[in-house]
Order: sequence, then C-alpha cells, then structure tokens
Amino acid sequence: MNSTPNVPQPHNEPVLSYAPGTPERATVQEELKRVWQDEIEIPVIVGGKEVRTGDTYQVVSPHDHGHTLATVHSADAATVAAAAAAAVEAQREWGSWSFVDRAAVFLKAADLLAGPWRQLINASTMAGQSKTVYQAEIDAAAEMIDFLKFNVHYAEQIYGMQPDAGPGVWNRMEYRPLEGFIWAISPFNFTSIGGNLCSAPALMGTTAVWKPSHTSTLSNYHLFRLFEEAGLPPGVINFVPGNPVMMTDVLFAEERMAGIHFTGSTAVFQSLWQKLAANLDRYRSYPRIVGETGGKDFIVAHPSADVAALTVAMVRGSYEYQGQKCSAASRCYVPKSMWPELRERLVAMIGDIRMGDPADFSNFMAAVIDRKSYTKITGYIEEAKADPGIEIVAGGGASDEVGYFIEPTLLRADDPHARVICEEIFGPVLSVYVYPDDSWSETLTLVDTTSPYALTGAVFAQDRAALIEAKRALRYAAGNFYLNDKPSGAVVGQQPFGGARASGTNDKAGSPLNLLRWVSPQTIKETFVPPIDYRYPHMRAE
Ligand code: NAD
Repeated sequence: MNSTPNVPQPHNEPVLSYAPGTPERATVQEELKRVWQDEIEIPVIVGGKEVRTGDTYQVVSPHDHGHTLATVHSADAATVAAAAAAAVEAQREWGSWSFVDRAAVFLKAADLLAGPWRQLINASTMAGQSKTVYQAEIDAAAEMIDFLKFNVHYAEQIYGMQPDAGPGVWNRMEYRPLEGFIWAISPFNFTSIGGNLCSAPALMGTTAVWKPSHTSTLSNYHLFRLFEEAGLPPGVINFVPGNPVMMTDVLFAEERMAGIHFTGSTAVFQSLWQKLAANLDRYRSYPRIVGETGGKDFIVAHPSADVAALTVAMVRGSYEYQGQKCSAASRCYVPKSMWPELRERLVAMIGDIRMGDPADFSNFMAAVIDRKSYTKITGYIEEAKADPGIEIVAGGGASDEVGYFIEPTLLRADDPHARVICEEIFGPVLSVYVYPDDSWSETLTLVDTTSPYALTGAVFAQDRAALIEAKRALRYAAGNFYLNDKPSGAVVGQQPFGGARASGTNDKAGSPLNLLRWVSPQTIKETFVPPIDYRYPHMRAE
C-alpha cells in the first residue's frame, strides 16, 4: 500500500426523534410488527457456519412474557471448543489484513446500521429488551454507530504513535494484534455494548468468541448478521450463545485465550478473574482482562442547587430504561431545606410517567428484563415497605401478570447505610437520604464511602466553591462525574465511559484506552550502517 490514508473524521450519529409524522416513526413501527410476528430460530455461528445443537432456550418479550420472539440454540462444549479453534484459525488471515481493510469493514457496518439495518436493530431491541423507541435509538443505533466510527478513528491515532529516532536509526512501533482470541461476554442492557465488546478487539486484528446475554440474544444476533453483511470474514467473530459457566471452563483451557472483554455484574467478573488466574500457566501470553461492572450511582445536591433541574435529572437519571442502565442514579443526597419542594415536584413528575408496551410511543418506561430481575427488585421494595425507617414516597407497585412491570419507585431512608442506599438494585428504584444543610462536607464523605462501586455520580450546585469541594472529595467515587447534569447518557467520543473500584477496570469503552488493551506492541529498531569495530573511542591510546 503506497499511501497513508486518513480515516474519515467521525461525528456523533444524530439521534432521530420518532415524533408523530416522521418517516422513522413509520418505519420502526412496521419493523416492530414484523419482529413481533416472525418467531425466528437463532443458531450458533462458528467459523461462519450455522450450528444447531437442538439444546434451545426461548427469548420472550419482557413486557409480554407469554410471547416468544426467538428460539436459540445453545452451544455445547464441542461447539465452544470449535469456536475457539475457528477464532484462532481466522486470525492468521485477519491479523495480516491492513488496517484500512479491517477499518472499512466496520465503517461499512456503521453505515449499514445508520441506514437499511437501523430499524431492525432498534425494533429487536425494543421487543426483546423492552426499550422505548428513544432508548433503543440512543443505544442500538446511535451508540453502536459511534462505537464503530470513533474506534476506527482512535485506532488510527494509536497506530500513529511512533517513537523518536537517533542518527542512523529508524525506530518503529508495530501494534500487533494479541496472539489469540478474546472472549467477549456481554450484558442484556445495551445492544451496543455487545457489539462493541466483540468488534473493538476485532478492529485491532484480534478475533473473538462472543457470548450474548440470554435476554438480548435477538438484537445481538441481528447485529452479528450485520457485521457479516459488512464483509467480516468467517471466524473473526463467532456468535456463541450458551451456558456461561461451561463456556468459561472450555475457553479458559485454551492456550490462545488472549483476554476477556466483559460487561456485567461485579460478582461474575470477579469469579472470571479468579478462574483465569488459576489457569495462568496454560496461556501463551498473559490474558488481558477488561471488565466494566456494577454501580450504585449517586446524585448529591448542595443547598444552592437548582431544584427544577435536579428533579428532571433524578427522574430521567433513575427511571429511563427502568433504571437498568449501569449509569442510572440509584441514591440521592438532598439537603433538608430543599426536600419539601423537591419531594412535591418529584411526586408530581413520577405520577405523570406512563409505563407499558414500547409499541405505544407515549410510554416513558417499559418492563424490567426478566423474572429474576423482577423478583430481585420487588424483593428490595417489599423489604423497604416493611422497614419503619423507610418511607415509600412514590410508586412501590408491581405486576408480573403480562410483563415484568415495576412502578418508578422513590424511597426515603432515615439510615444512610440502609441496604437500598448501599446495594445495586438495577431497577426503577431511587433511594433518597435527607441530610442537614450544614453537613455538606460530611455528606460528601458519606457519598464517597457508602458503596464499593465508583461508576457514575452527579453533583448539583450553583455555588462554585461547593462544586470544587465535591470534585475534590469525590475524585475516586466515580469514573464518569457530572456537574449539574444527570449521571447517565454518556456519548461516545464525548464522555468516555467506565468506572473504577468495584465498577471495573476503567478502560473506557469507545476510547483509545480500551483499544490499547487489544494490542501487543513490538518495538522495531533498524540501524542503517551498523558499527564494524567493537572498541569504543575512550579505549584508544592517548
Ligand atoms: P450479568 O453479570 O448477570 O451477566 C453479564 C454476562 O455474563 C451475561 O452474558 C451472562 O450470561 C454472563 N455470565 C453470567 N454468569 C456467568 C459466569 N458465572 N461466568 C461467565 N459469564 C457469566 O449482568 P447483566 O444482568 O446482564 O447486566 C447487568 C449488570 O451489568 C449490572 O451489574 C450493571 O451494573 C452491569 N453493567 C455495567 C456496565 C458498565 O459499563 N460498568 C454497563 C452495563 C452493565
């Protein structure tokens, strides 16, 4: 290749409005009907070939759990081992492709998603993961497109990072792909996370075995087919739904296990890390471990905060996508003087929220993902109802008759260490602690020390000194920190996302920091005229 091409400058994908009368509203509604009616069969895909094991599970709609959307073949141990072999084999060819060719595949995928595939991926996310059209659009379409385009741009920057050279010498850095495959394990809550976990390492020349979450298999499968349509060669990403524990055992026995790219709960990530460490002597290289995990994200309001803005941030930040965003606010600290007015505003706003089937576009919320989540979340609510130290300020109701619906729920706890303030609930439940106005500094310490997590957090204050103090006190309490804004809604290319402490390795998805984890740099020094005498000048006679 006799050129150094520049990749196209990425711009964030515009988020479509789906307002009445717009063309996108009509097309997504049509696609949603189709996705709803066509129950599909999803095979395992290994080395580009479909495998039907006959051991299946159903994808049902969370807002209508009697309705099956897909039947999925679950990989057996032999198929998982075959996927690892296919990934290793595919890397020989894929790892030698030029960056331009690899990048072109993913840029084409971005354009397919922005155009003809957009509403299939959105509709399957709405039906299968119970997202409203707006929540599907910002995730499955916009964020996924951004991941693909910005990652190409960041990869170009990484490849451009080259060392200095001395006289007669040319030093170069060759950013080799890792020697092996990545196991990408994705969560249910973002279609785009699944797509990014497998495609980011693949962009850097490594291959992947991708295990989607059971409950997001439908949208993830269509996304995989989109990658194929964009020209991704067989075996570069292998789509392998299956039992995660069995898969762990099979894949962790592989010499070429080069890394895990995980997003999900903290407990699962910790168990994976421990298992991987126990197998360390098997591997050709030390596997890379990248994991974005749980959170107990906070909003802390100073007495100078704007109450109207705070109310909206609390409602949007806590209840959008039923509180199932890793970044969703789930604990809030409010000064006593502000609480009566804030309480009144919150109760009115929460009372106005419509919840139901995402096919009805007037709904702001839909169902939580499955029975397990429903049981867990309602368990916390029931415990709160029985606790005399906790007031149910709004919501508290739930029904699993048709779908897994839980009302947006606002709790106020007397004890700042109540379970609902400390533990990740991952549902539409926000717990408030009301603090004395003169305890701002003490409250910041409380925010910092209450939970083991450190994913997102927000501070609301008009007083600059209060913001400065909060920034200092909460430096390690959040990987994504917001001033006078809700703690969710990070945009690729604008707010690189990830948290530390128990929230993950903080490698910031959709940034160069993440892509760096999937390369193994080789330093090359070339000397043009090498010395031919071993002696140094100081050794000459006087
Ligand atoms: P989860 O941990 O239940 O599942 C995540 C993935 O791990 C799924 O594919 C699942 O099948 C797999 N898995 C489950 N048990 C496993 C095991 N023993 N070994 C290997 N893999 C296993 O999480 P979830 O319910 O899908 O997602 C919600 C969680 O993800 C929340 O804790 C949330 O905070 C977190 N999350 C974090 C971020 C972030 O960026 N920090 C983003 C999204 C979600």
